[in-house]
Amino acid sequence: MIYRSHIVAHPQWLGMLTKQELPIIALENVSKRYADVVALAPVKYAFRPAAVTVLIGPSGCGKSTLLRLLVGLVRPDAGRVIVNDVELTATNLQQWRHQIGYVIQDGGLFPHLSARQNVLLLARHLGRDASMIEQRCNELADLTGLTNTSLDFYPQQLSGGQRQRVALMRALMLDPQVLILDEPLGALDPLTRHALQGELKTIFAQLNKTVILVTHDMNEAMHFADQIILMRDGEIAQSGTPEELNTRPANPFVSEFIRAHRGWPSRLN
Ligand code: ADP
Repeated sequence: MIYRSHIVAHPQWLGMLTKQELPIIALENVSKRYADVVALAPVKYAFRPAAVTVLIGPSGCGKSTLLRLLVGLVRPDAGRVIVNDVELTATNLQQWRHQIGYVIQDGGLFPHLSARQNVLLLARHLGRDASMIEQRCNELADLTGLTNTSLDFYPQQLSGGQRQRVALMRALMLDPQVLILDEPLGALDPLTRHALQGELKTIFAQLNKTVILVTHDMNEAMHFADQIILMRDGEIAQSGTPEELNTRPANPFVSEFIRAHRGWPSRLN
């Protein structure tokens, strides 16, 4: 077992899990190559339960590879992904996936299904109780600020911001212990993005889940993060709180990256 069986049998609704019950996810010297390209050098890291950890770094630094390893979409060449002291394997992967809510950049909603059908799809497929599903859907609509009417729309009838709210509802429907968001605001216009940044932060605070978010925007990372992992060339250049990265950058790359994203003059210019 990778986590307590009672949680699997009786999914808890919002805020029911204590920090101690959330899974400890750790990477133990995990590496991944694609032919000659080192996508991830051996990486060691333990994600903090109930915290928001933001993965950031230049394009091609290995952020997506790291996420895919966490959700088991790719297998490491070496090292282990550990969940609560147990290695993630082909045998326990499916069980683990049900504990992960995943939001991708464009939401990934099925275009031929209404927003509501998108949200309910998996819970219905798994035969969850209809009244529980409805209660959960209402709860999540409240959480994300979506109206009943907008849930009857199809994805193309919704704005980009509404689509991402629906994607978030869908990701949270089974009350996963971990929420992973891959550039969730990357495709939005600046105004919508700014508004959703504020709302998402409030939502994360209410959720009491382990949140792992990828962005390439340092301001966004600073806004959301309890912990930041700044990556470069498949390695962790530095991890720590926003304040630690700001005030005690581990190397020149970290200070340059932070400076560049603030629009401050670079030492290299
Ligand atoms: P990021 O998400 O930070 O942009 P990725 O994890 O997507 O970085 O990629 C890391 C490196 O691995 C890049 O050099 C990329 O080209 C390479 N890479 C990622 N996925 C594949 C793949 N499926 N096949 C070949 N190379 C890949």
